Amino acid sequence: MIGIIYDDAHLEHKPPRSHIENPGRVLAIIRSVGDYIAMERPINNIDEWLLRVHDANYVKQIDEACGMGYVFIDADTYVSPGTCKAARHAVGAVLRGIDKVLNGEWNAAYAIVRPPGHHVGHGGRALMAPTQGFCIFNNVAIGAVYAIEHGISRVAILDIDAHHGNGTQEIFYKDPKVLYISLHQDPLTIYPGTGFIDDVGEGEGEGFNVNVPLPPFTADDAYMSALNRIVWPIIREYRPQLILVSLGFDAHMLDNIANLRLSLNTYAHVFKELRDIIGMVRGVVFVLEGGYNYDTLIRGSRLLINIMNNKDTEVDEDVIQTEPRILARVNSVIKDVINVQRNYWNLT
Ligand SMILES: [Zn+2]
Repeated sequence: MIGIIYDDAHLEHKPPRSHIENPGRVLAIIRSVGDYIAMERPINNIDEWLLRVHDANYVKQIDEACGMGYVFIDADTYVSPGTCKAARHAVGAVLRGIDKVLNGEWNAAYAIVRPPGHHVGHGGRALMAPTQGFCIFNNVAIGAVYAIEHGISRVAILDIDAHHGNGTQEIFYKDPKVLYISLHQDPLTIYPGTGFIDDVGEGEGEGFNVNVPLPPFTADDAYMSALNRIVWPIIREYRPQLILVSLGFDAHMLDNIANLRLSLNTYAHVFKELRDIIGMVRGVVFVLEGGYNYDTLIRGSRLLINIMNNKDTEVDEDVIQTEPRILARVNSVIKDVINVQRNYWNLT
């Protein structure tokens, strides 16, 4: 059973002017998914957890920005008076989802939160990205640290947002307790310009970072092939105790922020595969990242909830085939990733 966590506090992060990352995104989802639990109260010691991942100076800078009204902290990312509350609630929702899964109440959780998080590193912008890409605190990364502190020794983070999670990669690059796997649009063609095949982790963390950069116009068949040949075998071999999913719906073909061409069939494939893996793990916590087409956000969220609850899983969209020229490029990326990652994993 999947539990949903959401709070109206997420609406208080408001753009100073028209912006695609706005409260309407989570409102659209929450109006169409049915029951959820609200974060009646924030997690008490939330700052203690923020500071396990983020530099104190960075948290202070965000808190000061919240006191300044409506400001842009870089070309993409805004802070409003309610941002500090919204962002702390986003982290809190992930921690509460992890609690519910670890205590056996739920076997999956869906944290419908904003602002998103995966582009933020220890001190804000990560890996020399030009901006923080709408993100304030790294919700998923803080969740992973929290789970480890609560006795979990292997966490896998699967990032299927269209963009590379440069913040998450930076935070866990030297850490073997967190396996980070990201499928994303080729960084040479899209923000944040990071997430290359050769980034495999460093020191003790070597072999625990997996990037699958896909060319623009990659569609369902090619994306699923990357999942089947790289991602699922690595996750099964790693045997995580908890899986956190950076769930971006912006890889969907109707989302104009990126150029991938997935239908909801690929999302359904991911959800079903994770439902099947749930028996091997303590649980799966899905955390909303990007996704700016409301219809996709709504139908994708419903699909997630239905699949996790073993209900009707009909996808009302055709499977999109990748055109041959792009498919050849994806196959060559898959081959290159396997060549690099087979130093660490049993891939064929
Ligand atoms: Zn994204």
